[in-house]
Amino acid sequence: MQTRVMLQSKLFPKTRKEAPKEAESMNHKLLVRAGFMDQLMAGSWTLLPLGWRVVTKINQIIREEMNAIGAQEMLMPLLHPKKIWNETGRWDKAKEVMYQFKDNRGREYALSFTHEEIVMDLLRKNIKSYQDLPVGVYHFSTKFRNEPRARSGILRGREFMMKDLYSAHVSEEDLMSYYEKAKRVYSKIFTRLGFDFRVVETEGGVFTDKNTHEFQVLAKGGEDTIYYCDTCSWGENKEIFKGKSGNKCPKCKKGKVIEEKSIEVGNIFPLGTWYAERMRVYYTDKNGKKKPVWFGSYGIGSTRVMGALVEVSHDSKGIIWFPQVAPFDVHLIELSGAKNAKQVYKKLTDAGIDVLWDERDVGAGEKFADADLIGIPVRLVVSKETKDKIEWKKRESEKTKLVSLNQVINKLSKVSG
Ligand code: ATP
Ligand code: MG
Repeated sequence: MQTRVMLQSKLFPKTRKEAPKEAESMNHKLLVRAGFMDQLMAGSWTLLPLGWRVVTKINQIIREEMNAIGAQEMLMPLLHPKKIWNETGRWDKAKEVMYQFKDNRGREYALSFTHEEIVMDLLRKNIKSYQDLPVGVYHFSTKFRNEPRARSGILRGREFMMKDLYSAHVSEEDLMSYYEKAKRVYSKIFTRLGFDFRVVETEGGVFTDKNTHEFQVLAKGGEDTIYYCDTCSWGENKEIFKGKSGNKCPKCKKGKVIEEKSIEVGNIFPLGTWYAERMRVYYTDKNGKKKPVWFGSYGIGSTRVMGALVEVSHDSKGIIWFPQVAPFDVHLIELSGAKNAKQVYKKLTDAGIDVLWDERDVGAGEKFADADLIGIPVRLVVSKETKDKIEWKKRESEKTKLVSLNQVINKLSKVSG
């Protein structure tokens, strides 16, 4: 992702000293102050250039892991006819979360809150025999949900970005082995993103009567409460947990049950044949018999992931991005009298390193404060004093040291490579 960006006074957006008055959560305060996002109305956000760079990096990590399990990326529409939602009865069942409306000719539509019905429609047009299965397709797109409470910054939008994967299979066995594969790949994604998370069981909501698995990031600012074992991998959402913290683990009987606040970043659903039976999605098996397709769906909220990263990694001065999701690799601060800023900028970008170059005509204090607020992992300073060297500082540390341009390139190539 090599781009040349300077933090000119013209740069859109600018940072702010004060958080918006209505901001309650840390991600809301910091992402707005640091110029990553802007609120249009409750639950509705513009991702500004810095925010979009982070979400793009998050999406790329997810995309690489989806492709690694053979899923194919596509893009589905967001405006859906009522008819398709009536086929499963979810037009009525999911009325509370769905934005439904009539056009000026009286036709009824919904804005997508999920895409199971749309994928089912696609499958019934394309799946004929067992030879056409299994199928795994996914997309990144907007979801609309009429959330009653949209007060946790970008953690809960009424419009947000999700990656949703759908898979179709000939049997329950094949679905469940894919489901386990999806669970492993989700764990890999959340590990790559840098989270401390737990996989917990919970209910299926408007998706299924069966239990499902959620990926929950441990975070004080989270809306969810989970219970997990301090010894084995057992975990349950408060919604289904019967018991209390401190109890013996119901699974391994050795560990202790811990209660913690958390943020749900992903959810996977083994949906079975419920959708196929209602929408008549059948395939013919080896013996020529018609059978319903086994179906699963798997979601990750990538804009919520950005908010969760801020909730778990910040200090009193601002955000601290993990390198793999940071909007830039380095924040280059040019102070008055520096002679080598342009050369440093050019050599770094030529080496494939993403540089945010602050060459504004403002005081050093303001530049340092903005660098801490924006939270890029490495800060470089060039000034009259540093001469042909560069001052290097990590965002989370107070220590600075003088290094050469080649040393900077070597260090950064190690970090990003
Ligand atoms: P929640 O329980 O937090 O309302 P959900 O269980 O309704 O979420 P799913 O339908 O499982 O959400 O959606 C898959 C993923 O999409 C979630 O794990 C989460 O990361 C994200 N997500 C869901 N709702 C929102 C929202 N309102 N804003 C941002 N991200 C969301
Ligand atoms: Mg969920």
